[in-house]
Amino acid sequence: MNITSYMPTRIISGKNALTNNKEELKALGTRCLIVTGGSSAILSKALDDITKVFLSLDISFSIFNKIEQNPQTVTCHRAGEEAREIKADFLVGIGGGSPLDATKAIAIYAANEDLKVSDIYNRKYNKMPLPVVLIGTTAGTGSEVTSVSVLTDSNTGFKRSISGNDCYAKISYCDPKYTFSMPYSVTVSTALDAFAHAVESLAAATSNEMSKLYAEKAIPVLFDAFRYLDKSNTLPNNEMREAIYYASIFAGLAINITGTCFPHSLGYVLTEDFNIPHGKACTAFFPLLLERIKKFRPDCLQDLMRLTKADENEIISVVNCLTDIESIAIKEDSIKEYCLRWEGGNKNFNKSPGGFCIEDAKKALLSI
Ligand code: NAP
Ligand code: ZN
Repeated sequence: MNITSYMPTRIISGKNALTNNKEELKALGTRCLIVTGGSSAILSKALDDITKVFLSLDISFSIFNKIEQNPQTVTCHRAGEEAREIKADFLVGIGGGSPLDATKAIAIYAANEDLKVSDIYNRKYNKMPLPVVLIGTTAGTGSEVTSVSVLTDSNTGFKRSISGNDCYAKISYCDPKYTFSMPYSVTVSTALDAFAHAVESLAAATSNEMSKLYAEKAIPVLFDAFRYLDKSNTLPNNEMREAIYYASIFAGLAINITGTCFPHSLGYVLTEDFNIPHGKACTAFFPLLLERIKKFRPDCLQDLMRLTKADENEIISVVNCLTDIESIAIKEDSIKEYCLRWEGGNKNFNKSPGGFCIEDAKKALLSI
């Protein structure tokens, strides 16, 4: 039995989680920088809720609303300067994985004035990041409960993550209602991401009894939702959307223990150069993942079939239909270049079923 795990974020969940539990914010200070993308914080009404809460608690705030999808390190660095200028005591991130991950990085830049943009990756800084509060608006990444921040390195254009115990949010307000404004395309892609998390976690060599519990909780809910999304081509009702959101949090708790497998590393390439949204970029490699699960982890395939109440072919067909990316021709020369970044070793490859090497990555990218 192995239940080794650590997740120090206070999760406050449910309808009106923020307004009903606003007092929790008082302990974090009196000045805040709110970090958002261009529109999701407004569309979800989370920005409206937090500003009302701040007015009632006498907390002053500024808003940094320039976080792009797949956030750039330079943007986070700039937001860190802004946090220092307003003497922010803490940060609130509102959005999908992009603004949430950005907020974790901004907290580091804000506290460490001399930290150069790219030095965030080698974690050479002395001061603890500012406290972070997260409010999720997508049902996908689970960033609310992970110690990971995925950033686009503005020097190289590569997506790379940082992680560590100082990257956890102090509080995550998890209220499914903020996801109800997601359009169909974002709903599908983010749910695919959550599914990828749960399955990759289940199949990872680092999986343990605790991560399995979380993954097993997420998979049936997400696959039911996939059947609905695939057949209907319309948004599910709020009850199902609520279930998908909580499933994404369980999947986040699972990868927080295990990390992800090779589809996440390869998926970054599809997002960087072909603009494919993160979730779909990961499930583009799902058939290959399932093939390796079948070969190297037959026990895990049995678990998947039990949890989805589907056979292998149905699982692949439903995931492929929703992933729905046109075939991409990647030139062999570009593939060689992509692979350079993995030459020093890759954690996700090592924990994948049967292991995964650079030759496997080349084949996978060629076949996409
Ligand atoms: P996202 O990039 O945060 O958002 C995608 C799009 O959806 C944006 O246009 C966003 O608008 C919009 N959107 C978000 N919530 C909405 C809402 N409620 N209503 C209407 N529109 C909404 O997407 P994501 O898939 O959640 O995050 C992807 C990022 O997370 C990637 O960089 C990925 O690598 C990372 N990730 C992190 C972890 C982790 O553990 N930290 C795990 C997996 C993935 P705005 O631009 O206005 O916000
Ligand atoms: Zn992901």
